[in-house]
Amino acid sequence: MTVQPIRLFGDPVLRTAADPVTTFDKELRTLVKDLTQTLLDDGGAGLAAPQIGVGLRVFAFDVDGIVGHLVNPELFFPDEEEQDGPEGCLSIPGVYVDTKRRLNVVATGFHEHGEPVRLVGTGMMARCCQHETDHLDGVLFLDRLDAAARKEAMRQIRASAWYNAANPPAVKVSPHAGGPFG
Ligand SMILES: [Zn+2]
Repeated sequence: MTVQPIRLFGDPVLRTAADPVTTFDKELRTLVKDLTQTLLDDGGAGLAAPQIGVGLRVFAFDVDGIVGHLVNPELFFPDEEEQDGPEGCLSIPGVYVDTKRRLNVVATGFHEHGEPVRLVGTGMMARCCQHETDHLDGVLFLDRLDAAARKEAMRQIRASAWYNAANPPAVKVSPHAGGPFG
């Protein structure tokens, strides 16, 4: 298994919907191992395949010491209860914003060998399942914020060293400044 580089905000793979897994083969098991190892190495709550550049519907989680994965996840909400609290993303390092999510979730999907899995999650586990399943649809937690919170998150992103390293700010040249081509 290999720790993979995590794709950062601005990478188009994070805005692309992932394809369902149709073959439960050795390659899928390698992907699950890579996702799990990369997640444990980075210390997040979850990691979705597009975050390591793979367009398949798979995510790994590590919530309260429970490490696992889901292939082709589908979410169901057993009630209307909500939670609000800080949420972050390994693809948007250092940015944490209160994000409303459902409190309880039932996730169905498959284990790496193809056995059906049903996961009942509350609190952080429910938040993780929603965040990671969003990734598989090309959705980021920023999209779940209201306009003011999203604006603040974007301000934090634009101030981040990692963002500016990947997207250097354009140098503004005033047309009235003169200079060598004046
Ligand atoms: Zn994320």
